[in-house]
Amino acid sequence: MINWFSAAKLGHHFIAEKLQAGDTAVDGTMGNGHDTLILAQLVGPTGKVWAFDIQAQALANTRERLATAGVLDERIELIQDGHEYIKKYVSHPIQAAIYNLGYLPGGDHAIITLTETTLTAIRDTLDLLAAGGRMVVVVYPGHPGGDREKEAVEAYLARLDAREYKVLKCNFLNRPATAPGVILIEKGGGRN
Ligand code: SAM
Repeated sequence: MINWFSAAKLGHHFIAEKLQAGDTAVDGTMGNGHDTLILAQLVGPTGKVWAFDIQAQALANTRERLATAGVLDERIELIQDGHEYIKKYVSHPIQAAIYNLGYLPGGDHAIITLTETTLTAIRDTLDLLAAGGRMVVVVYPGHPGGDREKEAVEAYLARLDAREYKVLKCNFLNRPATAPGVILIEKGGGRN
């Protein structure tokens, strides 16, 4: 059953509907590896997932999660670098990407994604997205800096050409404005 009311899980369902075995995907913010694991399971052993994080702790946590699930193999590239450098590592068209912004849960809350580098990464990831590909951005306006980042990301995505991208913003109406939100993006064309 689809969990419509978790921003992160809603994003997973949106990606899962399209991502197939053998596909390629990017996790722009590896964190504790929940999103990397979902992508790895969807693309299967013949696919590829590039996952980014600037913190060694995130790579360690993700590596452990993937190993426990039995998917830590050639399909996975765990990269300790900023997602703003995605084009240094990824040149193929990708079918899906997840950006789950903010800080590492259970880690240092002062290390957060930053508006300028997030915008660079989102722009370059959209560029790499194949026709028909899907991208999810989970925003957290509840921590210092998160509100500005959310506004900037939404303003950027709102300017995308509607003939090329569908962009849907999901927010809770009956929770504080600081609650997480999710933005679902699909690039035009490609397979159904
Ligand atoms: N997707 C994760 C999961 O499934 O557990 C949660 C991600 S967490 C909310 C955000 C992560 O973004 C943190 O681990 C943080 O270190 C990372 N981060 C911050 N700046 C970054 C950057 N420039 N490039 C890549 N990751 C970054």
